Amino acid sequence: MATTDVESVVIGAGVVGLGIARALAAAGHDVLVLERHDGIGQETSSRSSEVIHAGLYYPRGSLKAKLCVAGRDLLYAFAAENGVPHRRVGKLVVATDPSELDRLDALARTALDNGVSDLTRLTAAEVRALEPEIASVGALLSPSTGVIDSHALMVALEGHLSAAGGSIVLNTAVDGILAGDVFRLITTSDGQRSELSARNLVIAAGLGASRLGRMVARERYEPPQVYASRGHYFTLDGRAPFHHLVYPLPQPGFLGVHLTLDVAGQARFGPDLEWSDAPNERADYTFDDGGGARLACFEADIRRYWPDLPEGRLSPGYVGVRPKIYRRGDAVPDFAIHDTRVHGVPRLVALYGIESPGLTSSLAIGDYVAEMLAK
Ligand SMILES: Cc1cc2nc3c(=O)[nH]c(=O)nc-3n(C[C@H](O)[C@H](O)[C@H](O)COP(=O)(O)OP(=O)(O)OC[C@H]3O[C@@H](n4cnc5c(N)ncnc54)[C@H](O)[C@@H]3O)c2cc1C
Repeated sequence: MATTDVESVVIGAGVVGLGIARALAAAGHDVLVLERHDGIGQETSSRSSEVIHAGLYYPRGSLKAKLCVAGRDLLYAFAAENGVPHRRVGKLVVATDPSELDRLDALARTALDNGVSDLTRLTAAEVRALEPEIASVGALLSPSTGVIDSHALMVALEGHLSAAGGSIVLNTAVDGILAGDVFRLITTSDGQRSELSARNLVIAAGLGASRLGRMVARERYEPPQVYASRGHYFTLDGRAPFHHLVYPLPQPGFLGVHLTLDVAGQARFGPDLEWSDAPNERADYTFDDGGGARLACFEADIRRYWPDLPEGRLSPGYVGVRPKIYRRGDAVPDFAIHDTRVHGVPRLVALYGIESPGLTSSLAIGDYVAEMLAK
């Protein structure tokens, strides 16, 4: 077996792993990213809504709240400096029934607690003036919500990493980890097994994180279990008559079937939520139309805020898979970013449950993890 020594290894080249690798390289680490696929961002990071969230939803003081708000500002600045396509389009969170107005006000208070001070409360008439086809009894307007080309973002992060001397090794799966004075990683690449050692290790492996966490820390703690939970998107054929993103009020575990526009203006609706109640770390991206039932559910959800959605305008889009670390009915946990204080292993940071707003938070998570591994 060949042996290579690296200062810091990041497992996973999704947007979060790349954000961490960039931050570590900028802090002077010699960084190697190991990725099992033949390209960057082939799993969760390429199947999201691509929304830069403002930070409305998350409990005050949580990592989600702090890293989303900080990450949003970092992301807008990074995108502008690096030519990553993005648009600060703004979003409406709409109440469609008077019984929802209290929840709209509660959401505005949570947002303010999180430092999101630019929300405006709109009446139904004000909503109609902005978006004539949206039916509501009131809404919140979030001007600092936007959209970004997530693939271009990852390419730009890879560029920063390379410029700082780091690199990404593709087609390389980590199959074993031994923690000692250094981490010894067993990898498989094109059927060949190799071993390399690293002083610092970051597990940013999304759906694969629990399996890796169990390898390295199994005698000391039980890592959170991932429950891969699917979400389908439909795309809207033709032009959308909207200028803003449109969200209903959130539901437990997801933000509700919402309208997003990509940077080119293409509209899509989703994602719905298929809970996974048994341990499940599998990425299944098969679009399941449920014999037409899924389309009927989407149309019913969308017509609550867009009553005139024409028949036959929605086409199956794609499926994204959330790396949830909780099941239906559980309290929604925070991002789990575990360092030695949690698992007892020095120089290991392991990330679990980095679902939304992970894209928005990616640069802030990078800085946060780099600080945990500060030399
Ligand atoms: C449907 C959906 C919509 C979303 N919408 C938004 C949104 O609008 N805004 C937002 O901010 N966030 C959103 N998110 C969340 C965001 O997409 C994720 O938080 C983010 O992409 C997670 O990135 P990651 O790098 O942690 O994971 P991933 O992208 O899954 O990357 C992990 C990588 O690790 C690799 N890996 C795993 N195991 C191994 C191994 N053993 N060896 C080598 N490599 C391995 C995988 O191949 C993968 O490439 C959404 C998520 C979903 C599912």
